[in-house]
Amino acid sequence: MSAPVVGRFAPTPSGRLHLGNLLCALLAYLSARSAGGRFLLRIEDVDAMRCPRAVAQRCIEDLTFLGIDWDGPVVYQSERTDAYERALKRLKAQGLVYPCFCTRAQLHEGAPNEGDTQFVYSGACRNLSPEEIARRAMGRSPALRVRVPEETVRFCDALCGEVEENLARDCGDFIVRRSDGPFGYQLAVVVDDAEAGVTEVVRGRDILTSTPRQIFLQRALGLPQPRYVHIPLLRDAQGRRLAKRDRDLDLDALARRMDAAQIVGFLAASCGLAEPGERATPQALVPRFSWARVAAMGGDLRLPPALCP
Ligand code: GLU
Repeated sequence: MSAPVVGRFAPTPSGRLHLGNLLCALLAYLSARSAGGRFLLRIEDVDAMRCPRAVAQRCIEDLTFLGIDWDGPVVYQSERTDAYERALKRLKAQGLVYPCFCTRAQLHEGAPNEGDTQFVYSGACRNLSPEEIARRAMGRSPALRVRVPEETVRFCDALCGEVEENLARDCGDFIVRRSDGPFGYQLAVVVDDAEAGVTEVVRGRDILTSTPRQIFLQRALGLPQPRYVHIPLLRDAQGRRLAKRDRDLDLDALARRMDAAQIVGFLAASCGLAEPGERATPQALVPRFSWARVAAMGGDLRLPPALCP
C-alpha cells in the first residue's frame, strides 16, 4: 500500500495572496483531498522582518473565505529556528558549509541583470583559510553558503516531466543563512516539509529552479524527497502575468462583485476543472479533480474574461 498523501500550501506573507497563489492553494488542496490525504498550511515568514503577522493573518482569512480548510495548527517558520539550527549543524558536520563575506555589490559585479537569468555564485569565499576567515569576521558578519557538488540533479515533475540542473554550473554554492540572521528559504522548506511528513509539493512554476537545490539538501540531510507538481503561472484573459499590483484582481476587490463560490468556480475553470461561470466550493470539486485534467490545459492557464475587468 502506498503511503498516505500529505499535501501543503506554504505562502510567503510578504504581500496579499493574488489569484495565482489562490489557484495554487486550491490545486494543492484538491490533490491531497482527492487522494484521501491530509492538507497542511505553513506560513513562510522565515524572513520575519518582511512578513508581518497581520499579512499572514490576511492570507489565512483569504483561504478561509474561499472555503479551503487544513489539518492541524498553522505552522509559522519564524517559530522554527531551532529546527533550522539543527539541520545547519548537520550540514556543517559534513564540511558542506562555509562563511561568505561578499557584499551585494561584489556578488553582482559583472553579473547579468537580475531577472535575466539565474544568478550563479562565483565561489569567491569557497576556499578562504581559517586565518582569513577570522580576519574578515572582524569586519562583517558572514552569510553561510552550502558547497554544491559538480553534479546534475534530476527529478520527474508530475506536470513538467523530466527536469535537470547542474548545481555547480547553473546555481553555484547557495545561501543557507543570511548575514543578517534569517535562514535561507531552501533550507527552511526542506526541513519543514520533512518534519511535517509532506509527500507532495504543489507550487508555482516560478519555483521550479529551486527544486534541485532542495533535493540536494534533502539528500545531504537524509530526508525523503516528496513528489513535485509545479503548476503553470496563471495569466489574465489577455495572457498577461498576474502581479501583486493588480489591485482590481485582489480578493477584496473581487469579493465586492462576486461571492466565494463564483471565485472558486472561476479559478477551477482556469484549469479545466469547471465550466466558466459555474459556481463551486473546494469540497465539491474534490471528486472531479485529476492532474490529467489540469495537464490537458497544456500549460496555459488563463482567467476567464468575466473575472478580469
Ligand atoms: N513560499 C513560497 C511562495 O510563497 C512557496 C514555497 C513552496 O511552496 O515551497 O512563493
